[in-house]
Amino acid sequence: MNVKLLKSTKDAEKTCAVAARLCYSASTIDNIDENLTSEKVIDLLGKVISSGHHSVLEHASFTFGVEGVSRALLAQLTRHRIASFSVQSQRYVKFKSGLDFVFPPTIKKDEKLLKKYNSFLKNTKNLYKEFLDAGIPAEDARYILPNAAATQIIITMNARELRHFFSLRCCNRAQWEIKDMARRMLNLARKEAPLLFEDAGPDCARKGCHETFACGKPWKS
Ligand SMILES: Cc1cc2nc3c(=O)[nH]c(=O)nc-3n(C[C@H](O)[C@H](O)[C@H](O)COP(=O)(O)OP(=O)(O)OC[C@H]3O[C@@H](n4cnc5c(N)ncnc54)[C@H](O)[C@@H]3O)c2cc1C
Repeated sequence: MNVKLLKSTKDAEKTCAVAARLCYSASTIDNIDENLTSEKVIDLLGKVISSGHHSVLEHASFTFGVEGVSRALLAQLTRHRIASFSVQSQRYVKFKSGLDFVFPPTIKKDEKLLKKYNSFLKNTKNLYKEFLDAGIPAEDARYILPNAAATQIIITMNARELRHFFSLRCCNRAQWEIKDMARRMLNLARKEAPLLFEDAGPDCARKGCHETFACGKPWKS
């Protein structure tokens, strides 16, 4: 899996701090960012984050490029509705130079089952090629592809939605692949805008755990 932060709002922290200041001051738009020192940015963001006034975080957005993840991950990711996605098309892309698949660690470490998994994927690749060679359009040949098929995605979320996404998907109990991706995204977002994401992560990083079947291990980033 490869996860990159491709773009983000310029001065993301300051942009959100300006929005917060607007809510609580008599300043006009022309002087809204006057004397907005880094100390004031820290103070404003600290206040809105701890008070739950998270709508101001919607003014900063982050765009990630992700490759080498499965269609199983994609199905979970796209349940997040306050986000924009662009996904490599299985209709238009004919994977003539080869299909890639994701290998779950539990299967990888079981020699016998790994052999069966490899053999299944090899048969899938051969059948997919046979269908394309016979003139079946890629949009129909893809029906035989499993959840393991690898894909590439561009994801854009604003900081509020990212914090929500991280609270669900960085959790120890989240499914391993989306958890791996979410944790990489969190590290990148934190590097770019630490004030927006320093306390982001599963609920146990801030308050109590919400999980019915709690893992019992407080999360460490
Ligand atoms: C551990 C785990 C297990 C899961 N298991 C299943 C499962 O078995 N079956 C299944 O179908 N899904 C499952 N899901 C997916 C889950 O139900 C959500 O679809 C997914 O996590 C997206 O979360 P969300 O709706 O909070 O977030 P988003 O879509 O990212 O939305 C963010 C927030 O915006 C608000 N919002 C968005 N849309 C609306 C709306 N229409 N009305 C009101 N408020 C809205 C809500 O406050 C929401 O929390 C699971 C998720 C997790 C983390």
